[in-house]
Amino acid sequence: MALADARTQVDTALTRKGFKGLSNENTFAGITSFLRRRYTKDLSEVDVAVTGIPYDQSVTNRPGARFGPRAIREASALQAPDAPYGWGFDPMCEFAIADYGDMAFDYAVPSDVPAAVEAHIGGILDQNAGCIALGGDHSISLPCLRAHVARLGSPVALVQFDAHTDTWVDDDPTRVDHGTMFHKAVQEGLIDVKRSVQTGIRTENPDTLGITVIDAQEVHRAGPKEVAERILGTVGDAFAYVSFDIDVLDPGFAPGTGTPVWGGLASWQAAAILRDLAGLRVAGGDVVEVAPPFDPSGATAIAGAHAATELICLWCWVRR
Ligand code: MN
Ligand code: MN
Repeated sequence: MALADARTQVDTALTRKGFKGLSNENTFAGITSFLRRRYTKDLSEVDVAVTGIPYDQSVTNRPGARFGPRAIREASALQAPDAPYGWGFDPMCEFAIADYGDMAFDYAVPSDVPAAVEAHIGGILDQNAGCIALGGDHSISLPCLRAHVARLGSPVALVQFDAHTDTWVDDDPTRVDHGTMFHKAVQEGLIDVKRSVQTGIRTENPDTLGITVIDAQEVHRAGPKEVAERILGTVGDAFAYVSFDIDVLDPGFAPGTGTPVWGGLASWQAAAILRDLAGLRVAGGDVVEVAPPFDPSGATAIAGAHAATELICLWCWVRR
């Protein structure tokens, strides 16, 4: 890292030559793309794109996740000058990673949003780029899954981190709900339940739909290494869609979210699990439910930025 670069480098989200390389502009200034990656809609030279889906009208409790993508981008600026710690490779230098910006939609027509998300994510995948989405509330994961599965041609393993299963029964196709979208995903055949794992759960929902559940107490008892091994063993060689609901973390680590539940993972536990998932065949993923209005210290956005970075590292790891 060249500290002197900050004398000339600014707004690398616009001014960067090419897509690879670290960013040494001042962390507290400039345009805040994700990890200071270049903004572009042309993904022809891009390996993996990050995009924001600032939609939060499907929450059961506190809204605010519409501000998530902005806050995560801002928090990510602190990571941009260095390679992600401890991976032994630098995806930011070895892979072309871009920020695709946010999805456009009419906030007054929520029923149109799922189709818009599916088309938006599909537009990224059709340019032969991987995609990591920044929510928004968790309802966006259903159309994200639809876009991925349509192109893969087979169901994916869902690797979900969450306080909630989000598989509560909902047979109304017109409803868009951040607590029922994975029930719909199972009904639609998007998820291979035998290869899927939900980690960090601590809300009651007796019907697992056949998905393996590693609840929060089990994480605390077994520890991250064993949890990661169980996830990898369940998923096997299937393509995985990794959905990281920030409320998997304890409210002490991530207060800025709509439906916080006590007894959750410490950020170090989530970090260790994600790292030990290296080798997972990540097809795509998302980080959702970061709600900045309840995040006075910015800790939740920082955690969200780190989680999204780890998803990129996992995506790149199996493609080196
Ligand atoms: Mn949740
Ligand atoms: Mn959720």
